Amino acid sequence: MENRQHIAPIGDEGLYILDTGSWRNFRPVIDQEKCSKCGLCFTFCPVNSISRVDNEYQISMSYCKGCGICANECPRKAIDMVPEGGKE
Ligand code: SF4
Ligand code: SF4
Repeated sequence: MENRQHIAPIGDEGLYILDTGSWRNFRPVIDQEKCSKCGLCFTFCPVNSISRVDNEYQISMSYCKGCGICANECPRKAIDMVPEGGKE
């Protein structure tokens, strides 16, 4: 099954979620220089949008809702919420 890390952990096979990030107003941007790789953002994201890839945390914009929980929980303040269409 493709993109298994983006399947919601519901049911035996998981539940595919289509692109539900299109109505997001803000997007989280991780400053990898500040990030300590603690994994708290991964733990707190309510829609499982954050994954660890090649020793760094990355966010899938296909599913991120822009809720800001990850930015709020990050102990290093390594995640900025930026307006969609704004700076990266
Ligand atoms: S919570 Fe912050 S410091 Fe921890 S892994 Fe996520 S971005 Fe990095
Ligand atoms: S903004 Fe919300 S949905 Fe997007 S990665 Fe952070 S916690 Fe997950």
